[in-house]
Amino acid sequence: MKRHILKNPFFIALLLMLTLSVSWLGYSFAIRYFINKTAIQGQSTLRLATAGLRGELSRYEPLPELIADNKDIRNLLADPTDRYQVDMVNQQLKQITKNVAASVIYLIDKQGLTIASSNFDTPISFVNRNFDYRPYFQTAIKGGEGRYFALGSTSLKRGYYFAAPVHIRGEIVGVTVVKINVDGFETAWRGNENEIIVTDEYGIIFMSSREEWLFRSIKPVSSDLLFKFKSTRQYPVDRISELPITNLSQNNSQNDLLTNKDKGELISLPFAGDNKEFIFKHMEMKDAGWTVHILSPTSGARAQAYAVLLSIILSTLLAILLLAFLSQRRARIEEIMQTQKEAHEQLEKRVANRTKDLNEVNAKLLEEVEERVAAERRLRKTQEDLIQAGKLAALGQMSAALSHELNQPLAAVKSYADNAEAYLERERPEEAKENIKRISELTDRMAAISKHLRNFARKPKEQLGPIPLATVVNDAIEIMSGKLRSRSASISVDVPGNEIWVHGGQVRLQQVLVNLISNALDVEIKSVNTTEASTPEVNTPKVNTPKIEIRAGVNDGRVKIEVRDNGKGLEEDIINQIFDPFFTTKGINKGLGLGLSISYNIIRDFGGTLSARNHPDGGAIFTIELNEAERVVGAAE
Ligand code: ADP
Repeated sequence: MKRHILKNPFFIALLLMLTLSVSWLGYSFAIRYFINKTAIQGQSTLRLATAGLRGELSRYEPLPELIADNKDIRNLLADPTDRYQVDMVNQQLKQITKNVAASVIYLIDKQGLTIASSNFDTPISFVNRNFDYRPYFQTAIKGGEGRYFALGSTSLKRGYYFAAPVHIRGEIVGVTVVKINVDGFETAWRGNENEIIVTDEYGIIFMSSREEWLFRSIKPVSSDLLFKFKSTRQYPVDRISELPITNLSQNNSQNDLLTNKDKGELISLPFAGDNKEFIFKHMEMKDAGWTVHILSPTSGARAQAYAVLLSIILSTLLAILLLAFLSQRRARIEEIMQTQKEAHEQLEKRVANRTKDLNEVNAKLLEEVEERVAAERRLRKTQEDLIQAGKLAALGQMSAALSHELNQPLAAVKSYADNAEAYLERERPEEAKENIKRISELTDRMAAISKHLRNFARKPKEQLGPIPLATVVNDAIEIMSGKLRSRSASISVDVPGNEIWVHGGQVRLQQVLVNLISNALDVEIKSVNTTEASTPEVNTPKVNTPKIEIRAGVNDGRVKIEVRDNGKGLEEDIINQIFDPFFTTKGINKGLGLGLSISYNIIRDFGGTLSARNHPDGGAIFTIELNEAERVVGAAE
């Protein structure tokens, strides 16, 4: 039997290795694909966020300068004590702030003191507050454009400060400042799955989609820097600490995931109590000195890659299962075919053996048949020889009886001849004639004996073969017609015309029938008990006239011919002798006692039997049984 392929450990190992390699390859491809896809998406989000931020900043950029050009502002700086002017500028600044959706707009004098502010009427009013420590003031008062991000020292709110100098007759007399809120951006970013942070040139995160990352840094922070922040009050120093970012791109197994380093780098970061992996990508905003970063989580990409891996594993397993199933089925079919082949071969072997046996038996049978045929031939020959020998022996035995049979008529012939001579001498021709007639009769009888004996002793020359029974019966009746007529006998024949054919010799069967009819005519009539005879002769009822019935029938290949008479029947004590040669009850000169004996031998020569019995209603029945023969087609009816 063929071993199942999945039972082969080598094959299993091979399949396993194949599955692993395919899965690994598929997974590597998928993770790279999805990570890169995430990176590309992150990149475009980053671009959008940066563009939004840049757009927003550029909207506010010219504002401080525009405000600085305002006549009222300049007037106020010319006379900061003018209460009316202060009120008016305050109101104006408040109105502009509202119009441009800024956080605060305020005016600072040369010393850094705020003289008017849009939030003049709020508890956190900047009026009278001194901002000379703020870098944006320090830049603007020197004629530059102050740009600065810081936590509001009063409001404690983060903001971006745009500052511009106010000139009066070429001299810088103060600074206008527009502070904008950055909360709005963050709120917008929060709707995204990516995290967006903005860092300043020191790496401090001052805008972030995640609150907890605010004022942390992405680079190490030196103590000098901390000191600087403290002095400028730019950031709450106690919150500044470096974010524990681990750069995974240095890791060998991960560094080729992002096919292009421009797409960012893989990092991991503690996130919601866990380490989370991100693609970290940056975009600089040179004007502002900022860098916008995007952190795109890779969990989605990894999940998709895992899904691909899972489906590869499942498909491979399914394929293996299918392969197993198919191979098992094939093995099963092969097994069945093998079994069938074996069974077939076995059957053929058995048939061959059987045929050989049969052939041997057949050959033996043929041999036996041949032997039997030869034996039968020998037996027949012996039988024929025996019959012949028996006949000759019987002839020998008969010699005595024969000499008596012949001597007696010879003696009678002698005395009749003497008598005839005497009568002639006495001129009594009538008597002489009578005696000569007797002599003639006696010689006839002797001739008959001699003829019978010749027949008896002679080996039959006649060929045996199929002979039409009805023809033979009719011929026999024809031969006997004279005797039948002289006895006024009636004969009825029930033999179907040309239907029954028997195996024998036509002349000899006819001889037998003649003998039987002759005997039937010779018997002493006892009664008229025979069944209805319908010959015209018996229509005129005659007492003690012989009636003979001949009938024939076929049963199982044997033809039975019965000859029945209405005589006194066979005596019980002689019934066993009637077939013996020279047995006769007909008295001297009447019977030769050879008819039945010869008939018996003839029928036996034909392979049949001749038997005699008495009919219960009287009369003797002689029965000839012969083998039926094939009808000869075209034979004369
Ligand atoms: P044969 O006729 O010369 O006597 P068979 O051999 O023909 O010689 O007959 C022998 C004897 O058998 C007859 O003498 C007779 O006694 C007896 N026999 C033959 N045929 C009949 C018959 N149909 N009825 C009664 N006896 C018969």
